[in-house]
Amino acid sequence: MGIFDKPRLRPVEKRDDMPEGMWSKCPSCDAMLHQLDLIQNLNVCPSCSHHLLLGSRERIASLADPGSFRELDADLVSANPLGFAKYPEKIEQLRATTDLNDAVLTGMLTIDGNPAVIAVMDFKFFAGSMGSVVGEKITRAIEKATAEKCGVIIISASSGARMQEGMLSLMQMAKTCGALALHSEAKLPYISVMTHPTTGGVTASFATIGDVNLAEPKCMIGFAGPRVVKETTHQNLPPGFQTAEFMLDHGLVDAIVSRKDLRTKLGKLLAFMQGGVQ
Ligand SMILES: [Zn+2]
Repeated sequence: MGIFDKPRLRPVEKRDDMPEGMWSKCPSCDAMLHQLDLIQNLNVCPSCSHHLLLGSRERIASLADPGSFRELDADLVSANPLGFAKYPEKIEQLRATTDLNDAVLTGMLTIDGNPAVIAVMDFKFFAGSMGSVVGEKITRAIEKATAEKCGVIIISASSGARMQEGMLSLMQMAKTCGALALHSEAKLPYISVMTHPTTGGVTASFATIGDVNLAEPKCMIGFAGPRVVKETTHQNLPPGFQTAEFMLDHGLVDAIVSRKDLRTKLGKLLAFMQGGVQ
């Protein structure tokens, strides 16, 4: 009986063969992104080039010459020096779900044949907060670079100091910068790469004192959040406040580098500042 016999349209049922978690939405342009596309594109949106968070292991895999990465201090684990309630349980849970022991991975590698020590923060572990393990691993990485007479690269992604460790977190700011001062006195290069977000005690210590300060496009770089700054200063904030582009215009950042170009950029900078491949 013509079109009147056609079955009614039904809501699309959930398909059993579509695995959970394969699709996500770009927070910038709302495009639907397939997990495989994201992995191949280093977690950068193919539609609008928005840089999503990238894990530390994936970051190192994208930068290191194949087989060159040697991890340092992999087994350091946080204690609970203040007896902060539920802190050990939270750490244990994060260790189980992230396959990381804390919010930074450190190690030695070569990039286009140029040796360096690298520290890569990982936001998915406790929002990349810097407690005593993060500070200690970064300090040891810098000291290793000084001993090996090579450059150090620190890639930041952090909400700042870890309040659960109180003053022991804050002292990591001075400790990491002290190690960088000795590295600098040895006339060795330090390249800082700021990624989204670089904030708090990390911004106020090692992340912004590189010989060269690089940043990923549109990442947030700041100390306190914009709402706190606005309420404290009672002033309206300028457009683009606390973005990498704003920091480039105001001299805090030397260059903005897309994720796909970072490996080439770091290789050239290391070659230039260390006198080429040794
Ligand atoms: Zn997008």
